[in-house]
Amino acid sequence: MARRHDLLATSLPLAYAGCGEPAFAGDPLRGEARADVVVIGAGITGASAAFHLAEAGARVRLLEAERVGAGGSGRAFGQVVPYLRTEPARTVSDLGTEAGERLIATAAGTPALVAELVSRHAIACDLDASGLIFAAHSAGGSVVLRERRDVWAARGVALPLLDMEQTLAAIGGGSYRAALVEPRGLSLNPLAYARGLARAASAAGATLHERSRVVDMSSSHGGWRVETTEGRIACDTLVVAAGVAIGGILPELRRRILPFRVHEAATAPLSADALAGILPRQRALTDTRRLPSGVRRTGDGRLVVTLSGPAGGGRAGDLGGGLARLRALFPRLDVTAFAESWSGWVDLAPDQYPRLVEPRPGLFVGYGLSGRGLGLGTALGQALARRALGSRADETSFPGMAGRPPRWLPGSSLAVAAAAASIRRIDAWQARQADAPRLPTSNGPRP
Ligand SMILES: Cc1cc2nc3c(=O)[nH]c(=O)nc-3n(C[C@H](O)[C@H](O)[C@H](O)COP(=O)(O)OP(=O)(O)OC[C@H]3O[C@@H](n4cnc5c(N)ncnc54)[C@H](O)[C@@H]3O)c2cc1C
Repeated sequence: MARRHDLLATSLPLAYAGCGEPAFAGDPLRGEARADVVVIGAGITGASAAFHLAEAGARVRLLEAERVGAGGSGRAFGQVVPYLRTEPARTVSDLGTEAGERLIATAAGTPALVAELVSRHAIACDLDASGLIFAAHSAGGSVVLRERRDVWAARGVALPLLDMEQTLAAIGGGSYRAALVEPRGLSLNPLAYARGLARAASAAGATLHERSRVVDMSSSHGGWRVETTEGRIACDTLVVAAGVAIGGILPELRRRILPFRVHEAATAPLSADALAGILPRQRALTDTRRLPSGVRRTGDGRLVVTLSGPAGGGRAGDLGGGLARLRALFPRLDVTAFAESWSGWVDLAPDQYPRLVEPRPGLFVGYGLSGRGLGLGTALGQALARRALGSRADETSFPGMAGRPPRWLPGSSLAVAAAAASIRRIDAWQARQADAPRLPTSNGPRP
């Protein structure tokens, strides 16, 4: 069982922390306060909500248990993907044509939304707009990419499908048979982006309190009363953007997400010579395995690699497997150790759709970003702000509450580990098929 304090991890990757965006310095909430809207959680979703609320003129307080970006936002791999985890036809079938198309369009618009905010607020997050590469890890992966190209071509978006030689040139190594380039995708330093959004929210008039864990909330006189470790605040409207820790604040939503742990590692900054030819256009690489499989270059010359590792609590990620992956991709690269590694929790929704719900009047909650939160969390924060400012439920592009929650135990590490292990076995088996490239089997996803 992933315990609550495990889900609120504290140390942040040094690879991301030493960026141009300094750590935010928000004093804890002490004593009594009053606001129009209180936002709980200063990750990308909460910071985006606070910014959009403050920009619209609301008196906003943003409460963060630890530091800005302490959750998934400060630990992510760093790619902004313009689509959901499910393919468009499936989304439309699951959510209905109108709601499905609205959510697909919102996801497609997230790179532009992120780029606009980064540019408008001069957020120093090493944003790279040269696109993303999704490589085929198996014959089935090639089919997935071809279908994706065709789906988006029918929607007027051209995604170049590279053959083996072009893929080799685009990645600078490896033996993938094919790859799809997603020109709309971005990569960025996620912690710097979260900090920059918080700075923008503060500049727009929001008050941010770090080290202010919400321990209780109750409705009071038509509004809300929120209690933190050291203070209390009354407000008309409450927005909850607590990521994977949502069940700690709202137990009734605990079973709506499955905490899924993802592991990353980063090399020390490498010289230009060492990096020559590696991901030459700086595009972040993932492949078609179902579990996360990223490799990308950072602005200061590190390689960030997604590691295989337990999807529940417990052991660290597989550093040896990560190094083997780098060696297989780039045999010339002389890296014998990572400078650091870290992990974080993803709020995986059973159906992988993000949700915006109002479980009680005046309480708006976003969850279920399912590993797509850098872009979708930004959009969800904006949508939460609009709802808190009075827009109607049918005006948001995020679906509301799904049907009954699944029966599995909340946060059961056994259930998570078993599911992830069997997916990893399928990925590895596919990669071993006769017509698949030989790759280390320990990393890897459906991007
Ligand atoms: C290793 C890893 C790699 C990832 N890679 C990518 C990627 O490449 N692209 C992508 O789009 N997504 C990626 N994701 C997912 C992405 O990071 C998340 O979807 C996104 O950051 C979620 O943002 P959020 O603001 O909703 O939640 P969080 O960033 O988790 O923020 C929630 C905040 O709420 C605070 N909080 C919780 N409880 C309380 C409380 N009681 N009181 C006050 N504050 C509280 C937490 O401290 C936290 O700061 C990755 C995630 C991980 C872990």
